[in-house]
Amino acid sequence: AAAREALERFIVDVPDFPEPGVVFKDITPLLADHTAFATVVEALADAGRDASGATVVDKVVGMEARGFILAAPVALALGAGFVPVRKAGKLPRAAYAVSYALEYAEATLELHEDAVAPGERVLLVDDVLATGGTVAATRELVERGGGTAVAVAVLMELSFLPGREAIGDLPLHSLLTV
Ligand code: 5GP
Repeated sequence: AAAREALERFIVDVPDFPEPGVVFKDITPLLADHTAFATVVEALADAGRDASGATVVDKVVGMEARGFILAAPVALALGAGFVPVRKAGKLPRAAYAVSYALEYAEATLELHEDAVAPGERVLLVDDVLATGGTVAATRELVERGGGTAVAVAVLMELSFLPGREAIGDLPLHSLLTV
């Protein structure tokens, strides 16, 4: 409940960004408030714990760029490693690549081949689940190297988009549905 209140209070709707007709959820006011930021990080981290509070993941993957900001403190809270999934061409060493369709174009995400070891359990963290394309591609990257995506944690799920269907059977921990 505290996390939901923080999100409702500090996330700002920005009409017509980045293009006309889109209402962008701006999380920067939330990040700028220490209490709100700490509250949502702790709530996201619960997605990587069992009922007794023990950490059940080895790695926390954050998707460029806002996923980095959330996944890194979640990883520290869980005592797990942090792994970035980046846009094409940014990672310096051998990487897996997965492309997926956007509305009018294609996007490619990459993961270092040695970032997730075979058998490791991985929590995916991002700010917003919209169409689910980013999460589905990230799951594919993690599983290509033999890891297992065990859950996805996001601040917000946009329920008017088919994100939940796009991620299939991957458990979704969403702090707020709008
Ligand atoms: P999807 O792949 O689910 O369509 O889009 C999710 C990705 O786009 C996430 O990485 C998220 O950061 C970004 N995104 C889409 N819409 C919004 C929005 O309204 N606010 C923010 N902060 N990110 C968004």
